[in-house]
Amino acid sequence: MRFVDVGGLAEVRKKLVASVKNDHVAHAQLFLGRAGSPNLPMALAFAAYLNCEDPSGDDSCGVCSSCVKNAKFIHPDVHFVFPVSPTKTVSGKDVISTSFLKEWREFLTTSPFATLDQWAACYGGENKEANISKEESRQIIKNLSLKAFEGKYKVMIIWLPEYMHPSAANGILKILEEPPEKTIFLLVSNNAEKLLTTILSRTQIVTMPNLSDEELVTVLIEKHQISEDQARQFAHLADGDLNAALRLIHNVEDDGHQLFADWMRDCFKRDFTALVRRSDEFHGMNKVAQKSLLLYGMNMMRESLMSHAAPELLRVNGRESQFIENFSKVIDEDKATKITTLLNEAHFHLERNAGARMVFLDLSLQIAAIIK
Ligand SMILES: [Zn+2]
Repeated sequence: MRFVDVGGLAEVRKKLVASVKNDHVAHAQLFLGRAGSPNLPMALAFAAYLNCEDPSGDDSCGVCSSCVKNAKFIHPDVHFVFPVSPTKTVSGKDVISTSFLKEWREFLTTSPFATLDQWAACYGGENKEANISKEESRQIIKNLSLKAFEGKYKVMIIWLPEYMHPSAANGILKILEEPPEKTIFLLVSNNAEKLLTTILSRTQIVTMPNLSDEELVTVLIEKHQISEDQARQFAHLADGDLNAALRLIHNVEDDGHQLFADWMRDCFKRDFTALVRRSDEFHGMNKVAQKSLLLYGMNMMRESLMSHAAPELLRVNGRESQFIENFSKVIDEDKATKITTLLNEAHFHLERNAGARMVFLDLSLQIAAIIK
């Protein structure tokens, strides 16, 4: 991972690079950003930069032997510690980060913006139990007592230190305060409030903002091949959280269609019992899924309008086009516009934390009235 792969945050990057050039790298830094911020990618990029043999300008070169190893997350001087829990095959004292390195490298390759939930799903553990154990703190000290193999720096990246068992946190206080020479701790946290003050006071905080809408749009278009139009909508909904944006994309692809089609069918049939039950169901979904459903609905309405005005511009696939064809028989342009406005308003209310059950029930009743 290089700085250029992080996708933004030029200011943060500038400061980190300057600290290396001025030989003023703080030995214990806390990369603090909420879930979905690029705090972990930034730590990976910084670790690569610290050990790059030929940093060019403001980024690691990406081709030297150090960079090649860092790109695969196998550099012998870059260590990783992260929350883990027992699985079917790993238990007892083996429940430490090094037992899960294979899964971890895959996780970093595919989803460095992801959450603990997704990490737990990746290695097959329970996120509720995941923590950084006392045994792990012994490993940290052991690993750092070795001389750097080949790098300029030894880097210890601790992801989500807020999941450290207090005994583990206490176990590393001394080495965090006085690390061996050329050793850098990068603590990557989503929640400083959950950190022990003794840990906090020993680190220099680097605040990691979320990506801006513009940065997010660029990443979505370049790395995830979606249209600019959609990228803008997703970026707006995700509010700087790349992970949420990716979930939105997948939700829409996965089952958004069936859910929306069934819902509209109940509105059309004016099946009020079913609509009440549906509102409960929507209420139980997470916020990202709720918003994604509304967004999907807006897209369908736009396609429905298009099917009247310019059918050649339709962008829908098989089962969607069948739905649009049927839907367009009962919905004229005026009705589709009104429904779009309602979906938009519902989204607005959800953003402001209105109760989802009432928002969806109200929306359902209004759509049922319009369709009639
Ligand atoms: Zn390099």
